Amino acid sequence: MRWLFGPVPSRRFGRSLGIDLFTRKTCTFDCVYCEVGRTPRTTDCVDIFAPVDEVLDELRNYLADHHDDLPDFITFAGSGEPTLHREIDLIIHGIKEMTTVPVVLLTNGSLLHRESVLKRVLEADYLVPSLDAGCPETYGRINRPTANIPYEKLVEGLISAQRACRGHYILEVLLVDGINTSDEELEKLKECINRINPDSVQINTVFRPPAENNVHASSEETIQRFAELVGEKAVPVAYYTLRGARRQIQGELLESVILKTVGIRPCTIQEMTDSIGVDQAAMETAVQNLMKSGQVRELNFDGVGHIAISAEQI
Ligand code: SF4
Repeated sequence: MRWLFGPVPSRRFGRSLGIDLFTRKTCTFDCVYCEVGRTPRTTDCVDIFAPVDEVLDELRNYLADHHDDLPDFITFAGSGEPTLHREIDLIIHGIKEMTTVPVVLLTNGSLLHRESVLKRVLEADYLVPSLDAGCPETYGRINRPTANIPYEKLVEGLISAQRACRGHYILEVLLVDGINTSDEELEKLKECINRINPDSVQINTVFRPPAENNVHASSEETIQRFAELVGEKAVPVAYYTLRGARRQIQGELLESVILKTVGIRPCTIQEMTDSIGVDQAAMETAVQNLMKSGQVRELNFDGVGHIAISAEQI
């Protein structure tokens, strides 16, 4: 699979088949917590990255092969900001014609202030932009945006998108310990959320190895405190676990699925076992084989081991 990955375990969207429109990281931001790593050069120039026909053909084949095991969601995610794709509207429309599986667009929201960009994403069932800061200074520290997207433009775009959205509009806030977790910052974030008026607010933190070593998850207590401040729209994100049958894939096939999954972002063995739906023992054997051959390595983040692609494989 070139443009699809997973299904991956998503804390927010269950068992989610991912679409990655980029072959290398391409983003308007360079977030300190990014699990894909640092952005080589931030950009706000839209372009055609993945060819529309290739993405849709690949998805059509996947859905035909998995008609009895469909994902819960089809999610634009992966190694960049999907709204940088100038033809994302054609891809979303093509998916909607092909399947009833709901389409989720995870976006950093930075280009939604442009009318042309906003129009392209309105057919998604779930529009899920992010907001991690309540003021320009924190925005600069945590998201490290390209210079062309000042904080007020970001917030304006989030407000316009909420008004135009035809599906569900979910705002995600990611809390990073010591950067956006002070009482003052949480209060400012809450004021912004009130202006944006989303359907719900998913409160997340850092669960995977981030771009910068000095970045850490916020405490559960902080997440809870912020959830209380936000009120009834708050949804603190929980660990995802798969319900359902285990699949019998192993050997080289399982190894290739693991490589594709951790090629997008590091995962724990448990997450991969759940999302791919295989036995834990088969997963452990496959991971050991990939480690022995040097194709994956183990990274430790906040005391939890994650499997990541080896540097030589990137
Ligand atoms: S977390 Fe998302 S928005 Fe931030 S740098 Fe990574 S891909 Fe871009």
